[in-house]
Amino acid sequence: ESLTVGELAKKLHREPSEIIKKLMGLGVMATINQELDKDTIELIGTDYGVEVEEEIVIDKTDIENYVDEDKEEDLKERPPVVTIMGHVDHGKTTLLDSIRHTKVTEGEAGGITQHIGAYQIDANGKKITFLDTPGHAAFTTMRARGAQVTDITILVVAADDGVMPQTKEAISHAKAAGVPIIVAVNKIDKEAANPDRVMQELTEFELVPEAWGGDTIFVNVSALDGTGIDELIEMIQLVAEVEELKANPNKLASGTVIEAELDKGRGAVATLLVQSGTLKVGDPIVVGATFGRVRAMVNDLGRRVKEVGPSTPVEITGLSDVPQAGDQFRAFADEKTARHIGEARMSKHREANLAKTSRVSLDDLFDQIQQGDVKEINVIIKADVQGSVEAMRGSLEKIEVEGVKINVIHTGVGAITEYDVMLASASNAIVIGFNVRPDVNAKRTADAEKVDIRLHRVIYNAIDEIEAAMKGLLDPEF
Ligand code: GDP
Repeated sequence: ESLTVGELAKKLHREPSEIIKKLMGLGVMATINQELDKDTIELIGTDYGVEVEEEIVIDKTDIENYVDEDKEEDLKERPPVVTIMGHVDHGKTTLLDSIRHTKVTEGEAGGITQHIGAYQIDANGKKITFLDTPGHAAFTTMRARGAQVTDITILVVAADDGVMPQTKEAISHAKAAGVPIIVAVNKIDKEAANPDRVMQELTEFELVPEAWGGDTIFVNVSALDGTGIDELIEMIQLVAEVEELKANPNKLASGTVIEAELDKGRGAVATLLVQSGTLKVGDPIVVGATFGRVRAMVNDLGRRVKEVGPSTPVEITGLSDVPQAGDQFRAFADEKTARHIGEARMSKHREANLAKTSRVSLDDLFDQIQQGDVKEINVIIKADVQGSVEAMRGSLEKIEVEGVKINVIHTGVGAITEYDVMLASASNAIVIGFNVRPDVNAKRTADAEKVDIRLHRVIYNAIDEIEAAMKGLLDPEF
């Protein structure tokens, strides 16, 4: 049923003030004793990557609704899951490689590393899991789908370049997700390196080093020559300890899809991050809107494994279709249940896809362009700041594909409102939100009106997506 702001905060282990702030961000003014409706609770829950449990009617086809309570004594320490974010060229990829190469061979000599979207290292007798899709694309996609997999963010800032636009975005992402940040000041081997300046610049974002009275951990590193990597790893372990990350390994597995693709030989292949329980070969499993039985599992060293526990990434085969990054998965005791839930989810998904063809949506834009149905694409832009609105408008208006042009019909600063959605519905427009989300009413209206709202955190992604849609290159939605 409904919860008050205070009760919700308690459930999420957050301060009520934080929830109230979030609600304000969604355009909802609330007090601590105010009752929230289901949609609002869901929206806030999603923001924290929390699965919202339906208390009245539990839709058993919704695997998110299988919330299991673990007893304290069943919870065991688990490795932290770390994401590396930062501005382009500041050294994210190099750092990921460097960490992997310094540590991965210690316990697993002879392993051939394999890119499965995440890897694990063994340091000082403890494991750390890294998501190795650098940048915030992965982080954002997953969060947009309600999945929270990251425990710790490493913010890479090049010491010779300082805080840049994507640095700021990365900070916003991590903060919005409530994930602790460790700053890796990279490229300190360079002549022009000025780590003090980086620290100075970051104080503006409340990332203040301990030496200056703050509580943010800063580590000077060189991803290129390996300086500081050991210290960085120690710091990750320190933060992980403070966070007391735990999971129950002794139950059926659940977690999140990190990557997935269709492999010519092997069929649907997905990298799963087990977040709780233990996944075993042969387990019947529901993944997003697909299902199957785990046929084979391969770890990040390319080795076949029979079972994997919490915080472990593993590539599996045996699914009937390709899921999406950010999809949740859950293993079941028997195949019948998995099949039943999987099929229900598939048909639900198909219906949802069929139903949403009445308005212009990016997914069918290309077809409409081909049929000559569309000459102009109407777009509404909402962003967190005016500068982004202008930047987005400028770039969008430059796009022209086969004589079809973008027409920006409305712009504004702030959350996407019901007004924007109604306007979009009325003018067959797509709503693009940059660093903003729809408020509760807007979300409801958009669902009813079948208005396509596209949310982005990186301008280029928004532009790329539109351009791809116009050229018919958009990845099909499953
Ligand atoms: P990304 O875009 O953040 O993934 O950055 P990359 O890892 O691709 O690095 C961008 C460039 O910076 C590459 O040419 C790297 O070789 C270089 N680079 C990365 N780390 C360091 C470092 O610690 N020192 C120096 N001198 N160059 C680095």
